[in-house]
Amino acid sequence: PEAITVGELANRMAERGADLVKALFKMGSPVTLTQTIDQDTAELLVTEFGHRIKRVSESDIDIQSTEDVDAPETLQPRPPVVTIMGHVDHGKTSLLDALRGTDVATGEAGGITQHIGAYQVTVKDGSKITFLDTPGHEAFSEMRARGANITDIVVLVVAADDGLRPQTIEAINHTKAAGVPMIVAINKIDKPEAKPQKVREELLQHEVIVEDMGGDVQDVEVSALKKTNLDALIEKIQLQAELLELRANPDRDAEGTVVEAKLDKGRGPVATILVGRGTLRVGDVFVVGAESGKVRALIDDKGRNVKEAGPSTPVEVLGISGVPGAGDPLTVVENEARAREVAAYRAGVIQQKRTTAAPASLESMFSALR
Ligand code: GDP
Ligand code: MG
Repeated sequence: PEAITVGELANRMAERGADLVKALFKMGSPVTLTQTIDQDTAELLVTEFGHRIKRVSESDIDIQSTEDVDAPETLQPRPPVVTIMGHVDHGKTSLLDALRGTDVATGEAGGITQHIGAYQVTVKDGSKITFLDTPGHEAFSEMRARGANITDIVVLVVAADDGLRPQTIEAINHTKAAGVPMIVAINKIDKPEAKPQKVREELLQHEVIVEDMGGDVQDVEVSALKKTNLDALIEKIQLQAELLELRANPDRDAEGTVVEAKLDKGRGPVATILVGRGTLRVGDVFVVGAESGKVRALIDDKGRNVKEAGPSTPVEVLGISGVPGAGDPLTVVENEARAREVAAYRAGVIQQKRTTAAPASLESMFSALR
């Protein structure tokens, strides 16, 4: 439906109608319970109350969003977002660094990279892959709990000389719970004591069945140290990404997620945003968590100033009122007054520490609002 009454929306959200009316009043829309509100307002309310509209279509699971569904004809292919997980010392950082070294777009800047919590590699064929420099398993599941499902593919790193360890199993569980496809990188294959087949057998015990064992989980033996087989890993990521048919609409106001944020001495609050859909541009007015702002500058993972960032692109954003939290959504809005209003409202909501509705009601919310 195009419109919904405030009372009905309150019912679906399992919130008190009076609270919605109050919220709408604060947002500048004085309405009563029996009056209808448009879809945009309804969705904004849903967000403000901490409910997240769950996407049900498979191709949409990657997009964390609270707004309308983009029309199919507006969707264009976007790069996969990959998170590397695994037990400590199994080589996550080494593998990330090695993969970063395969970037063909770095060119003259060669090696002059900065840490922004995520980076994008341009592969030989010109396609791109975004890697999240992970925040760790806890942050991964916390982000997921908040509805920020920003990872398309998990690369599980297992050291071939050590096998499955507690954090490996934890990573497997998180990945399964998130419903994200996994590729296993059996690392440290250069070591004489490496036992890759043993790793495959151990994985079997945790119901991760690699292709060699008759399953459909891709695996690849690599050495992050010697840079062995990185091309094969990249190919498998691309293959998996193709199967996922990842798409997003680049031609709309941007929505994204905070990957990390900090207060920089010289530059003020800085957040690394992973753009989910739309294109974020210098000058855009936005709300991010309980903060707001206007994009003063965008800096890519190679330290370059850029004018815009499209879907799956990680970018540093300057011009924020304060430091948002990791996992906070960023939404471009029409003007600064609106941005401040929503941010102030969210700050209030956060303070009240509202509880969220059960997932079951979110499902029905989704179908009601689409
Ligand atoms: P993380 O804790 O998972 O991020 O692991 P690191 O990337 O920090 O690696 C832990 C240790 O393993 C470091 O001493 C690395 O040099 C070493 N290491 C990582 N990858 C390899 C590899 O492919 N072969 C060998 N021999 N050592 C590796
Ligand atoms: Mg590390």
